[in-house]
Amino acid sequence: MTRFRMEGIDCPVCAQGLEDGLRKFEGVKGVTVDFATLTLHVDALDLAAVEAEAKRLEPGLGLLRIGSESRASVAAQPEAASQGWGRGWIRDLLPIASAASLAIFAFLLERRAPAGLQPWALALPYYAAWLIAGKEVLLGALRNIGRGRIFDELFLMSIATIGAMLIGQYEEAVGVMVLYRLGEFLQESAIERSRSSMRSLLDLRPALARIKKGAEWLSLPSESVEAGDLLLVLPGEAVPADGGVEAGESLVDTKTLTGESAPRSAEPGSELMGGFIVLDGALEIRASRPVSESQASRVAALVEEASARKAKTERLVTRLASWYTPLVVALAALVAFVPPLFIHGARLADWGYRALVMLVISCPCALVISIPLGYFAGIGGAARAGILVKGGEVIDALARVGTVVFDKTGTLTEGSFEVIGIEVEEGRSETELVSLAAAAEARSTHPLARALVKEAERRAAPTESIAESREYPGRGLVATIGGREVLVGNSRLLGENAKSAKLPAERQGATSLYVAIDGSYAGRFLLGDRMKGDAADSLSELAALGVHRMAMLTGDAAAPAQKTADALGIAEVKTALTPEGKLRELEAIMKSGAARRGDRGAVMFVGDGTNDAPVIARADVGVALGAGTDAAVETADVVLLSRNLDRVPAAVRHARRTKRIIAQNIVFALGIKSAFLALGAAGLAGMWFAVIADVGVALLAVLNSTRALSSRRAGSSSFLRR
Ligand code: ADP
Ligand code: MG
Repeated sequence: MTRFRMEGIDCPVCAQGLEDGLRKFEGVKGVTVDFATLTLHVDALDLAAVEAEAKRLEPGLGLLRIGSESRASVAAQPEAASQGWGRGWIRDLLPIASAASLAIFAFLLERRAPAGLQPWALALPYYAAWLIAGKEVLLGALRNIGRGRIFDELFLMSIATIGAMLIGQYEEAVGVMVLYRLGEFLQESAIERSRSSMRSLLDLRPALARIKKGAEWLSLPSESVEAGDLLLVLPGEAVPADGGVEAGESLVDTKTLTGESAPRSAEPGSELMGGFIVLDGALEIRASRPVSESQASRVAALVEEASARKAKTERLVTRLASWYTPLVVALAALVAFVPPLFIHGARLADWGYRALVMLVISCPCALVISIPLGYFAGIGGAARAGILVKGGEVIDALARVGTVVFDKTGTLTEGSFEVIGIEVEEGRSETELVSLAAAAEARSTHPLARALVKEAERRAAPTESIAESREYPGRGLVATIGGREVLVGNSRLLGENAKSAKLPAERQGATSLYVAIDGSYAGRFLLGDRMKGDAADSLSELAALGVHRMAMLTGDAAAPAQKTADALGIAEVKTALTPEGKLRELEAIMKSGAARRGDRGAVMFVGDGTNDAPVIARADVGVALGAGTDAAVETADVVLLSRNLDRVPAAVRHARRTKRIIAQNIVFALGIKSAFLALGAAGLAGMWFAVIADVGVALLAVLNSTRALSSRRAGSSSFLRR
């Protein structure tokens, strides 16, 4: 996907037309034109040809490439985003102000005109004002007609005001143009504000980084940080790049990225993301990747790409606008011409005026701008709370979640295991078992593997060198060490591979890892894990949000898993599952009628990405916790930057709120419009009313949409917890 900032495209219907046109263009694999954010997303090899085609379809279109395949984001290129693209106060307000003054002058002139002045001379300043204010609208409408695209809002405004000028309603015509332009201007600034507040939110890295060069610390631009550099971060400063702590201890504030309200403690070994704020101690951090590839910029890129995945409602509204406007024009024509023909004494001028009023009122701008903006703001607001939502369609799905399925290890539990017991068979020693198992697990990233490696370090057990290893997801692994074949894993792995398969029974409350050496059982480790502190609260919050079914799917054995489920009151538990087994169980849940219940019919899966990327991909809403593994981050619909479970109900709540705001806009805009349309047709509302209703509704809807940008943190607002 390559993204372009667009300029000079002035109506949502044109944007839709551009999208449709480009989709048909040869070599374009995917394309979205996002009018709310003025972004063009294309997936094509020959970008130059696509650019040329876009400019052919939409003359006057300006395209500025942002980011690239390297996933750098707009946040990383502030100059591109801000330079020259804001339409500028003077450029916009000057014509509006001069047209308004000219109209007032004309109005006064009319009152005190010296006798004998020709009526056309009095109308002259009005015409000038109308042209100054309406130049862009009129030219835009002409341009679109030339391109076979009649019936957009520019067209509506043009014929309404031309009609008004012709029947001598000069003040009204100028008023419509001035207010329309003013409304556009205010809308644009509101949208620009949302955009820039997202940019600043995502642009968290400091400008300078203290990098160790030789024996000295040098302050250099943070772009120059490379993987492997040692960085010094003092209290109060933001971490420049992702990395691991080498020395020092401190509390770090992760709120801006993860939405976690409590600070985390960092000590040697902790992994930090660029953008975290160091609170009370100096830290030395070994950068693990350059700034441009940091988690934060990846997040920024994901969020920006997210706006390309439009929700159904969004598409519907743009499609609606393309037949709704012609319909209104036809209706207005009927109102203008039919009554004068059939009703005695009805005058064309009267009914024509009513028709013009209807045209102004019916402008669909309010819907067509505020709805995509609502989704955009919803995605931005979620990002502020550490919740990455990949698109408007995900907001829709999140709002409908009624079933939540959890993974256990690393999701409901901390996933930081500790060895709490070792049992060895006759003729083996604990040290031998620890060394072999740790060597076998040395290359695995599974939390159980890390615990064994830590245990070996703690005991300073002799290190064995590993020749070869193969991991069986959801089972364990097989390694060759010093010519011996070592199996470490659960009873299923041992049952399938070891000859003497008489294993001791699973223990309650501890995960057993069995070890076999050269095909015979040698002993086992008992590992303990802790439940996440906020698991119980988060689950009851989900229940309060109307989640009627919760289940747990785990690769762990029944005895240890059941304990976790019981503690949390999860009734539905499936244990000892391989990753394929998890997929089968999830599909069964998704198919069952109990999960598919109307407006709570979406099934969410929450996992940490270890052994559950396929399930995350399959669920209606796949959630990857703690920015999990790369595969999980790529396939998930929602990525939570925090490992805390409270973000899960927070995501559902935020999506519901966003949907509520969008629904309000639809009802409000359609309601006001139809009321005024009726008043207009009945001759009870004049053109002033019409334009104020039109601009006012659009503005209020846009402002209402930007409310979705604020993400109320979990627990901070009781009225949202319905
Ligand atoms: P969960 O579904 O609870 O997150 P996993 O699918 O990650 O658990 O793992 C399931 C089981 O597979 C573990 O309880 C463990 O017995 C076994 N297992 C997976 N990977 C390993 C490994 N690297 N070493 C040992 N055992 C493993
Ligand atoms: Mg897991």
